[in-house]
Formats: sequence, structure tokens, C-alpha cells
Amino acid sequence: MKADIHPKYVDCAVSCACGHKFTTRSVKSEIRTDICAACHPFYTGAAKFVDTAGRVDKFLKRYGKAKDAPAKDGAKA
Ligand SMILES: [Zn+2]
Repeated sequence: MKADIHPKYVDCAVSCACGHKFTTRSVKSEIRTDICAACHPFYTGAAKFVDTAGRVDKFLKRYGKAKDAPAKDGAKA
């Protein structure tokens, strides 16, 4: 192994948004993740809605909810 060219391989604490925590080894000492094997629908088998990047909020902000959307042609007025 060549000296001074390899990153340090340290204990890593991984914490998920669901609250699950585990330790592994990595070049980073801490990793925060949005989804893990304890809460991902593939592993749990449960159908669960996953919105990691806030894409639904982005969509609702852009297009609005159907009931809150103002009538464009003035049909309500
Ligand atoms: Zn998780």
C-alpha cells in the first residue's frame, strides 16, 4: 500500500430520516440519508409514499391544488 495516497477508512455512523441508525465503515465519519433498508418499501413490503426531494411540494407550488386553483375563465365569478 502506497503511503499518503489513500483516504482514511473510519467508523461511520449512518442515520436515516426514519430514525434508524447503524454503523459501518467509510471514508466519511457520518452519513445522513433519507431512506434506508429499514424503511424502504422494497424491504418493508409495505406500499409507502416516498417523496425524498420534495417533488410533490414543488408540483403543488407550481400547479396548485385542484380545489384551491382559481378559475381562469371566471366561471365561478
Ligand atoms: Zn430509514
